[in-house]
Amino acid sequence: MLPKPKKIREIYFDHAATAYTDERVVKAMLPYYSKTYGNPSSLHRAGREANAAVNDSRRKIAQILHALPENIIFVGGGTASDNLAIYGMARAHEQRGKHIITIPIEHHAILHPLEDLEKQGWKITKVKVNEEGFVSPEEIYKSIRPDTVLISVMYTNNEIGVIEPIADIGRVILKYRKEHNTPYPYFHTDACQAAGYLSLDVEKLHVDFLTLNGSKIYGPKGIGALYIRRGIKIKPMILGGGQERNLNAGTENVPGIVGLAKALEIAQNEKEKENKKMRKLSLYLWKKIQEKIQNIKLNGPEIGDDRLSSNLNITFMDIEGESLLLYLDEYGIMCSTGSACTSESLEPSHVLRALGMPYEYAHGSLRFSLGRRNTKQDVDYLMKYLPVIVEQLREMSPVRMEKQKHARYK
Ligand SMILES: *Cc1c(COP(=O)(O)O)cnc(C)c1O
Repeated sequence: MLPKPKKIREIYFDHAATAYTDERVVKAMLPYYSKTYGNPSSLHRAGREANAAVNDSRRKIAQILHALPENIIFVGGGTASDNLAIYGMARAHEQRGKHIITIPIEHHAILHPLEDLEKQGWKITKVKVNEEGFVSPEEIYKSIRPDTVLISVMYTNNEIGVIEPIADIGRVILKYRKEHNTPYPYFHTDACQAAGYLSLDVEKLHVDFLTLNGSKIYGPKGIGALYIRRGIKIKPMILGGGQERNLNAGTENVPGIVGLAKALEIAQNEKEKENKKMRKLSLYLWKKIQEKIQNIKLNGPEIGDDRLSSNLNITFMDIEGESLLLYLDEYGIMCSTGSACTSESLEPSHVLRALGMPYEYAHGSLRFSLGRRNTKQDVDYLMKYLPVIVEQLREMSPVRMEKQKHARYK
């Protein structure tokens, strides 16, 4: 391997897993730990001040979504929000029908609750995506049945950055409802990865539920929100005090809520600038990789308007993504892989498999998710090591040795 540099830089290319909290967000949150510490349900002054902060945050988020404040429910993260949308809808509307439509590349926070519902007698249709990860609105429309109560399609995928045609899907769902004179099916989108870069106008997207979280948008971890369109009933999953319109009992995470609102406000205000910067940087990285490394493939859509500007997911043929990740980590470079090959399982990611990729392609995948602190110098540092590591791993690759063995015995 390459000699280690004297000074190992710390380079973070894993913003889609989570991001550092923006200093402005931390500053906004700080007073809500030891200064304004009341329980928002308390009637005294400390309580009223905390309650005002929660309501103010709710108003800010509602404004960004073009929604009403009462339609924003704070929960404990993106997973909690996705779960509330799925289970809350299912439990409140099962009399009407037990069919839900989704796509196979959703986050596990959607897929696992749906698998659980399947065990309880629900029918789940996963509409196929194409080799770039797109689902066709027309295919969604065709899969709607009289007993379909919910459709859940993510806004942007966390692994391959594909931006799904949410507004178009919303429109075909509206068309179905009109033709059949029914309020069903409802439409949920998981916008955790989109919130930092794309518009969240629920009217233009035609969605009834929208999931947000803090940690992917330079906000705090363990806080999220669910937008629920006015008039739609869902059932709570957590019972107790009547917080959050009885939909998420428990004392509110006041600093988290303030931080989520601040992070979303900053992200939405700066999204044009950030998109430009990320697009430029990911184009630069992709160009450098293409120049220096052979036998690679960009997974997901080509770099452009259909792809999240901060995401690059690349397959390096004949190697394990996980080995590559660990070697890069030795040089201070942090990214992630779609092949979660622990010692027990060699299963590549469900997202890459849903694109119809052969196993050997899916295995060597690496995700670079860029973010606010990244610079061109970070890419240059990465490119000092990546080509050499790839070459050396290929030389000792078990995948390749296996292939050579087969060639020999043919
Ligand atoms: C991160 C993520 C989640 C889960 O959010 P948590 O806040 O970690 O619970 C859900 N969906 C998508 C698309 C995500 O990227």
